[in-house]
Amino acid sequence: MAEERIYEEFEHYLTPPSWKDRVWEIEEYKAFYEETIKDKENLEKWWAKWANELPWFKKWNKVLDDSNPPFYRWFVGGETNLAYLCLDRHIEEGRKNQLALIWEGEPWDEMIRRPKEIRKFTYYDLYRRSNRIAYALKEKLGVKRGEILTFYLPMIPELPLYMLAVQRLGAKHSIVYSGFSAFALAQRAMAAGSRIIVTADALYRNGKIIPLKEIVDEAIEICEEKGHKIEHVIMVKRTNRAAIPWIKKRDIWHHEFIRYISENARIEPVKLGSEDMSYILYTSGTTGAPKGAQHSIGGYAVGLYTTMKLIFDIKETDIYWCAADIGWVTGHSYIVYGPLITGTTTLMYEGAPTYPGPDRWWNIIERYGVNVFYTSPTAIRMLMKFPLDYVKKHDLSTIRIFHSVGEPINPEAFRWYYKNIGKENIVASSTWWMTETGQMLTGHFPGLGKIFPLKPGTNGYPLPGVKMEVLDEDGNPCKPGERGYFVITNPWPGMFMTLYQDDQRYIDVYWSKFSKDNKWRFYTGDFAVKDQDGYLWVLGRADDVLNIAGHRVGTAEVESAMVMHPAVAEAACVGKPHEIKGEVAFVFTVLKQGFVPSDELVGELRNHLRKTIGPIVASDATILLVDMVPKTRSGKIMRRLLKAVITGQKLGDVTTLEDESAIKEAEKAYEYLK
Ligand code: ATP
Ligand code: MG
Repeated sequence: MAEERIYEEFEHYLTPPSWKDRVWEIEEYKAFYEETIKDKENLEKWWAKWANELPWFKKWNKVLDDSNPPFYRWFVGGETNLAYLCLDRHIEEGRKNQLALIWEGEPWDEMIRRPKEIRKFTYYDLYRRSNRIAYALKEKLGVKRGEILTFYLPMIPELPLYMLAVQRLGAKHSIVYSGFSAFALAQRAMAAGSRIIVTADALYRNGKIIPLKEIVDEAIEICEEKGHKIEHVIMVKRTNRAAIPWIKKRDIWHHEFIRYISENARIEPVKLGSEDMSYILYTSGTTGAPKGAQHSIGGYAVGLYTTMKLIFDIKETDIYWCAADIGWVTGHSYIVYGPLITGTTTLMYEGAPTYPGPDRWWNIIERYGVNVFYTSPTAIRMLMKFPLDYVKKHDLSTIRIFHSVGEPINPEAFRWYYKNIGKENIVASSTWWMTETGQMLTGHFPGLGKIFPLKPGTNGYPLPGVKMEVLDEDGNPCKPGERGYFVITNPWPGMFMTLYQDDQRYIDVYWSKFSKDNKWRFYTGDFAVKDQDGYLWVLGRADDVLNIAGHRVGTAEVESAMVMHPAVAEAACVGKPHEIKGEVAFVFTVLKQGFVPSDELVGELRNHLRKTIGPIVASDATILLVDMVPKTRSGKIMRRLLKAVITGQKLGDVTTLEDESAIKEAEKAYEYLK
């Protein structure tokens, strides 16, 4: 297979017309970028410049302490607090009436064709409300600095309010996505040593009411069996459901909890060290058992602030929407902390993208005039399946920036939204990062005032101040166009501090593979390529990479090639052991609505694969048509489960799997094929 083939295929440079006078020659950007990472001095200068744009209780005396690698400390000696950065300082600086948060509930009133519930909060509103909650937590439950509370909350405003309340107190949170099972919740609550869980009675999803309290009760039972006591459950009333199970001494409604606390209650934000912990959060569990990433305060805030400015080019006057769930790192960093630190307006939508119809998102963008939008490839692929009329009905002209995150973006999906949503005049890129990195690390940087051309499917360039390399098995840099392991070679401010209470695993998982001769390198676990222009392409998980007769092929390459075919909505590629070739491609393929499975179609798809990615992959590939592929609850394809199906192995950890029927379906289809 021609190594460069796919990059030629996808190499259409795009420059949005409104940026045509503001384009970096790639060499120009490179020179700028190289300067920021040239040596430790420049690196510190670069990050200090951004840190200086934020107020601090006390300035740091050292930008980066790297004396004990791989445990890095940023802005050492500095004192701050995330609640202070997100709220108090805007109020001090005269922005109290600026709109901070718009929340839209899922329920829809078909009569007036509007959502039934919208809540808007100024910075002053968030400040007052989170102060009141902080006061109640401290006075009534004795929450202290350092304590970790577990939140199992849906997408309602009380979630950010409780987050900000615990930050004020110098306490920490561990948020568990509200779609997780009792077992997953119990695991995480025990690991955090929480004695308090904050939850809701239920949540709205796709027009249905889904109970939460019962799951919490079940989780608490699991905890208790293991000797861990949950003392208090605070519950936000979200729905009108009746007969909620109740344990009198333990459970309290949120509205009762704060009822007798003055609305003017105030708690001074605790002055925390830059290197104190802000929260722990588990990774998505796409590749194995989730890992509890522990995040900092000062460095984390600087990482978020910088990327909000550079990648989202954020303005206080913007309406900014990240359509993720706060239960994932994307929501922590880019629905709550990042946007609030910058003083913009962040939008939060409670429900499903397709409720009550496939144009709910476009409707939201139109009604609020969203300027900056952030979502995932899985959502884009899903919305692409519906007729374009749903998009065309809405005025989406306010969108200026549209980035994706979570998985490689298939060039076809990129082109679709660039054209149909962005009207070919937006800055768009795929921002690569992970729970562990805390902040986005690649993409395009319109905030610099100039952009380099867009390429559908790429992850753009590394963020200034972050050094990333693609290395071969021996740790040597790959040539342009050569696939290899994706590695970060210097520390960055938003980085996690360690895995919670597991320093050894932190070293083993991330730092052992490529560090040598006292040079520490962070291994991302991903497989990537740098093209001839220096753009990065993340090609999938290194563990998932196919090795077909010595040719290494990323899963994203095969899947993106498949998705280019008009009949294909989604594809998941795994390697199947093969006697001669070592491995061959096995592609679970989901068709778009309106296409009927047939042998001819499979033949056509194989031909398409041959033409797009080459005969080496196509000739022995199996294409299996299925109705859906297994995904994590955050929407990432779980290839390891598909691999287990076709190799007859154990499934392993399935706590993060969204829909178990996807596995049954794959098993059935595979049986039938055999
Ligand atoms: P686990 O670590 O538990 O297996 P996970 O890696 O899916 O789960 P996250 O931290 O949510 O958990 O996801 C980070 C991963 O998502 C990255 O390592 C990468 O594989 C993928 N990813 C994120 N953004 C992008 C992107 N823009 N392009 C390509 N891949 C991405
Ligand atoms: Mg990961």
